[in-house]
Amino acid sequence: MAVVGSGPAGFYTAYRVMSKIPRAKVDMYEALPVPYGLVRFGVAPDHPEVKNCREKFEEVAASPDFTFIGNAAVGGGGPPAASASSQNQQQQQQQHPTNDFSQSVSIPLPRLMAHYDAVVFAYGAGQDKKLGVAGEDRLRNIFSAREFVGWYNGLPENAALDPDLTSGDEVVIVGQGNVALDCARMLLENVDVLRRTDITDCAVEALLRSRIRRVHVVGRRGPMQAAFTIKEARELMKLRDVGFHPVDMDLMPDEISKLPRARRRLMEVLVKGSTTSIDTASRSWSLDFALTPTRLDGDESGNVAGMSFERNQLSSVSDPDATVVRRSTEDGPAEEVHFGASMVLRSIGYKSLALPGFAERGIPFDERRGVIRNDGLGRVLQDQQQKSTDEQQGQYKPGVYCAGWVKRGPTGVIASTMDDAFTTADVIAADWHGGAPFMQEDGQAETESRDGWDALRREIDGGAARVIDWRAWQRIDQAERKRGELVGKEREKFTSTAEMLAAAGL
Ligand code: FAD
Repeated sequence: MAVVGSGPAGFYTAYRVMSKIPRAKVDMYEALPVPYGLVRFGVAPDHPEVKNCREKFEEVAASPDFTFIGNAAVGGGGPPAASASSQNQQQQQQQHPTNDFSQSVSIPLPRLMAHYDAVVFAYGAGQDKKLGVAGEDRLRNIFSAREFVGWYNGLPENAALDPDLTSGDEVVIVGQGNVALDCARMLLENVDVLRRTDITDCAVEALLRSRIRRVHVVGRRGPMQAAFTIKEARELMKLRDVGFHPVDMDLMPDEISKLPRARRRLMEVLVKGSTTSIDTASRSWSLDFALTPTRLDGDESGNVAGMSFERNQLSSVSDPDATVVRRSTEDGPAEEVHFGASMVLRSIGYKSLALPGFAERGIPFDERRGVIRNDGLGRVLQDQQQKSTDEQQGQYKPGVYCAGWVKRGPTGVIASTMDDAFTTADVIAADWHGGAPFMQEDGQAETESRDGWDALRREIDGGAARVIDWRAWQRIDQAERKRGELVGKEREKFTSTAEMLAAAGL
């Protein structure tokens, strides 16, 4: 079985399949030279306990039946492989939909699929959504939270982001999920606390110089509808020397004490506010509810200088599913609200795109939801347009599965991603044990096992020499830990692919 992606979805699927199908061979392809996906490049550096799942992943990787193939982008990547020279494939590589994998070895999807009984797509969500307001593409210092998070976590494609934290003192973050609160915390936290984590050295340097004093975290709806969780809100409330501007009580439900427990506790945290009084705090943040972005404004140098919003009315302040009701024009124009901002982060969601080669291989992708079309359990559905008459009866693409964010959309924590990966793995095991046909080539049911990476590596010529196996990753890991030791932190990450490959000895 091939697994595409080495985040939690990939590793937990591999783990479960290997435990349910004795001697199953699993090859895991990862576009970056280093494993673990958002566990390494998403989870905030000051949440080290969240990264403990890596221990389970290391156990999986230690199995003789498991092979890690890092620096190998499926459906894209760098110079085309020897057997992948068609114009079509080259075009697809230029438009690769996930992170910048231009330095990685390209694994054409049709070649991959020719060598396995089953393939699991677990490649996450490498893009982000746009606000779609005037000024967004024109002004400087506007980033997606994905880019900002990638920068402080050492994602090679964001190493040169260089956010300007010194030309003003206000930041607007659009979106009110946990990722937005992570970004706010990074901007407000005492740098001496952060520098002991695995945050990158260049982020520490920039945060030390930061003049940011005020962070607005803006959402379209109210406190009852916000997506962040209590743990993240509480952490911000407890930051030393950071005050919280009181929430607009008109947007709070009348009887907080009668709400279900989880909502009640969250509302209480918001009403109670920060440990540090707003009057004495040197930095502060606010949750600015019921606002829809309308415009970004710039200064004469082309930097963002502020952001305008329209005040929304909500269908209800107490219903968690309340919707936004814009003020009708008969009531007069909606109130306009303006915040100054020398940096704007949009944190309105990650997004998955189809891999190059999906259309050709008849793998259906739901562009609107940003997921591979599947049965909800992890079996990929037949592409209606490509189904041949022989296949009409089958609802699923034999041997093709998906897991994680690319299966169910970019929401949920590692624990829910694990549950979801287990569901996919259980379906794979059930299909295998039940004798369902596995991957088919040219409409022929293939009953023999195939040779996986052993065969594929011969087809990608010199590319195989640039692939990172688990030992090579361990060399990178050790080198990062050693660099960290010198400065009193768990690790100092390499932030470029070239450094990673050099540390691996390639
Ligand atoms: P990912 O983790 O994104 O893994 C996908 C992998 O596929 C990546 O390694 C990627 O490089 C690789 N890939 C992409 N394209 C290709 C390709 N073409 N070929 C080969 N490989 C490819 N959850 C928590 O429980 N606690 C937290 O504190 C927490 N913090 C978070 C903070 C942020 C900023 C974000 C965005 C998420 C956070 N989460 C947290 C959620 C958690 O990270 C996700 O639930 C989980 O990582 C999703 O797993 P995944 O395997 O589907 O995707």
